[in-house]
Amino acid sequence: MTVRFDGRVAIVTGAGAGLGRSHALGLAARGAKVVVNDLGAARDGSGGSSDAARAVVKEIRDAGGHAIANGANVADAGQVQEMVNAAIAEYGHVDILVNNAGILRDKTFAKMSLEDFKLVMDVHLMGSVNCTHALWRHMVEREYGRIVFTTSASGLYGNFGQSNYGAAKTAMLGLMNVLHQEGHRKNIRVNMLAPTAATRMTEELLPPEVLPLLKPETITPGLLALVAEDAPAKMILGAGGGCFAETKVYETRGVALADDELTPEAVMANMARIRDAEGQAEMPGAFDQTNKYIQMAADLRGIS
Ligand code: NAD
Repeated sequence: MTVRFDGRVAIVTGAGAGLGRSHALGLAARGAKVVVNDLGAARDGSGGSSDAARAVVKEIRDAGGHAIANGANVADAGQVQEMVNAAIAEYGHVDILVNNAGILRDKTFAKMSLEDFKLVMDVHLMGSVNCTHALWRHMVEREYGRIVFTTSASGLYGNFGQSNYGAAKTAMLGLMNVLHQEGHRKNIRVNMLAPTAATRMTEELLPPEVLPLLKPETITPGLLALVAEDAPAKMILGAGGGCFAETKVYETRGVALADDELTPEAVMANMARIRDAEGQAEMPGAFDQTNKYIQMAADLRGIS
């Protein structure tokens, strides 16, 4: 099966550098018309110039592809709407959205200002919300959409000094889960990419000898799979150095306690059983968990 994007239009945010640039080049090389968005900000979100986006557009056009540059700040819903309007005016429709733009403002939570917390939430979380919201009805009406949120192991698993970034990156998980329920019947598939790449965001954090292993180009095949015609849905794809793995959320089987056992002491005493991974399962949705608890509670009390 060859993955192609002929006739498809993609918006890639933060595509002037790093992973976004690699994704934009990868999409264009396989036939997509690409809106290369980048504010041209510094790593901490300061400053801005659309030169980076224009340079990527030139690379795509020089290789025979189609692309336009866009300098919208994804944290600004008005600018995002203008970007979407410009994309539709130029290409007629949008099929693929890669939410990738990002910044860092790392500090321990004790030292972090609320301003730095909010700014990171605004760019990563609200930036993704703004872009997705501006395209959602368009995708519902066209009954086609492929959307990726760029998450991070820093949120999925935790990383010292990144409370703002970790919170923003995992808030996207809830967003994906709900949008999956609202969009999959309209052929909108929403997924998450959790990359590990050598970019300006990470080059000071990683040992220099591993940087050549972790080129952004080793991630992009995974991104292209997540936005393909036959893409999966509601998947968290980890990617780095050409390795790919899935992150999943499971719930253990758990225990049901009788009315006369409903004490914190009984919960503590049952902790090993509550945490026992045997028989753990994914919950397709929130009500599957509710129904499971109703069933377990009813079974314990002999209620049918
Ligand atoms: P990068 O700094 O090289 O690229 C980020 C790009 O986003 C920059 O070109 C920047 O100008 C642009 N940008 C920043 N704020 C913007 C805004 N408000 N509007 C539009 N564009 C904006 O970093 P990268 O490593 O390529 O990161 C890409 C994405 O991958 C980010 O969301 C990042 O959090 C995520 N990520 C990266 C890694 C990694 O190992 N590099 C790990 C986990 C997640």
